[in-house]
Amino acid sequence: MTVALVGAGPGDPGLITVRGLELLRACDAVVYDRLVAPELVDETPADALRIPRDGLLQKQIDDLLVALGRQGLEVVRLKGGDPYVFGRGGEEALALAQAGIPFEVVPGISSIAAVPAAAGIPVTHRGVSDRVTIATAHAADGSPPDYASLVAAGGTLVLFMGLGRLRALADGLIRAGMAAATPAAVVSRGTLPDQEAITATLDEIADVAGDLPGPALVVIGDVVALSGRLGLQSRRARLEDAPDAAHGLADPMLVLDEREADEALASRAEARSR
Ligand code: SAH
Repeated sequence: MTVALVGAGPGDPGLITVRGLELLRACDAVVYDRLVAPELVDETPADALRIPRDGLLQKQIDDLLVALGRQGLEVVRLKGGDPYVFGRGGEEALALAQAGIPFEVVPGISSIAAVPAAAGIPVTHRGVSDRVTIATAHAADGSPPDYASLVAAGGTLVLFMGLGRLRALADGLIRAGMAAATPAAVVSRGTLPDQEAITATLDEIADVAGDLPGPALVVIGDVVALSGRLGLQSRRARLEDAPDAAHGLADPMLVLDEREADEALASRAEARSR
């Protein structure tokens, strides 16, 4: 195997696969995206070639991978999320296939799976949404999305690369018949320590969330309304910082019986000290 297209996951360096990490730790060269965690690039051997893709055109990346592969090097092409979800991994794989370079695709945790979850939004939920449409707000030719078909699909709509045109997206969906009161969320820098999520109705989301930093995912649909109760990830983070906050949780379902929790913690602490 010479070139591996490896999904780095959505941002948190802990969210790479075991296979991906093994390949990184054994590679001769890594070509990495701007969005991947620097901690992962640091996992490559000290003498490995580390090449940021910044400033390279897609064609140049394709050529670079082919050239590195031809030298018989173990190459990792480290890509944000999953290589084949809006990552142009398919183009890189085609270039390698065409050049006869053996390659492997190591899937990654796409932001479609990780980012809504990190904000407490299950993209499907029994009785609320039985389908998900994933689309890019940024077509290759610059044309707007087909709003009518996105609205007709029903269920949850997740838009990649939509932050910069949030207002146009919301307006387009409403004009195509989506209710202005549909719950919407923008999740910025999902799974990273500075993650932010803002929810609002579709007609107001651009006013309140338009200036969040990227990368960001736009989630639209009734499942967004669950985030108030399932914002576990951020709550967990806060709980770790301040254990006392556990008593302030609003939803009793989320609170362990206190004695049970104390016992569990004590036995874990004991196991650790052994
Ligand atoms: N292959 C990637 C997507 C690449 S396209 C994947 O599977 O996740 C880049 C877009 O992905 C961004 O514009 C944004 O919409 C989304 N994205 C990637 N990482 C994100 C993150 N940590 N938080 C929110 N959105 C993210």
